[in-house]
Amino acid sequence: AAKAAGGDCRRWFDPEMDHAAEEASNLSADLRRALLDGQIFVLYQPIVDLHTNATIGAEVLIRWQHPQRGLVPPDVFIPLAERNGTILELGAWVLRAACRQVRQWQHRYGDQAPTKISVNVSARQLAQPDFAEQVASILAETAVDPSTLILEVTETAVLSTDAALPQIARIKQLGLRVALDDFGTGHSSLSLLLACPVDALKVDRSFVSGVHAEGAGAIITRNLIGFIEDFGIEAVAEGVETVIQADRLRQAGYRFAQGYLFGRPMPAADLEQRFVSPAPSIIA
Ligand code: C2E
Ligand code: MG
Ligand code: MG
Ligand code: MG
Repeated sequence: AAKAAGGDCRRWFDPEMDHAAEEASNLSADLRRALLDGQIFVLYQPIVDLHTNATIGAEVLIRWQHPQRGLVPPDVFIPLAERNGTILELGAWVLRAACRQVRQWQHRYGDQAPTKISVNVSARQLAQPDFAEQVASILAETAVDPSTLILEVTETAVLSTDAALPQIARIKQLGLRVALDDFGTGHSSLSLLLACPVDALKVDRSFVSGVHAEGAGAIITRNLIGFIEDFGIEAVAEGVETVIQADRLRQAGYRFAQGYLFGRPMPAADLEQRFVSPAPSIIA
């Protein structure tokens, strides 16, 4: 019957497509329960100073341990969470988790506690009229100094809603810093800088991976840093995997970097070891 109705009808019965759609909808339903069932947690990836190799901060990265499927990558479930709206709860949960962790570190380690903790914010979160108020109330509830936190927003998120720029301004008024994530992958990176007063740019891995090579990409990456600094903005090179990349970035003038070379996303307890100098042994 499908054939009689016209050739193209067949694609509606494509078992592959059906399967993919069904998978997504199952995952989407599972996601609604994930937070309540304690399947969501966060890891911390170090951000280092390229001159000293010291860890100066960390990015908070969400993880989902699915009871049957194992670890589901955020690149898979964040888009689903954006679509079914659970990103609002997940985003608030991640920020609260990060703040509680920071509070605990400050309590335990005082001056040595990790600072410059970056939290990713999605387009949908930024589009909420009361987003900045939510951030303020989480900070108040957890008694965290706003200057400890950096919120990472992507160019796409900023461009997807008119509400983004005023929200960013309010977030900065609260005393948090804002970083533009995946810089260079959007469609209007440079013009966005004029409109959007960010404190830091995270230069995307796609620019960093070829920094040691010949060619246009490397020229952009090596020269981008001077331009970013002239704006008075900090730059973090993302996805640094090799010593050669790190050397070239340092030579080009980059100061901060993040990537597997310096540390994979890790539990809070492992990150804190990088901040805290070894305790003097009680046993002589
Ligand atoms: P992102 O914010 O650009 O985060 C950096 C991603 O690059 C992380 O992937 C990190 O593990 C990965 N990465 C770091 N160093 C290297 C490296 O040297 N090589 C390679 N190949 N990859 C590296 P992850 O954790 O899988 O997260 C992917 C994306 O999911 C993030 O990209 C971010 O856009 C999103 N995401 C993660 N956590 C959250 C969250 O709490 N909220 C929201 N809205 N999005 C999140
Ligand atoms: Mg990020
Ligand atoms: Mg990034
Ligand atoms: Mg990226």
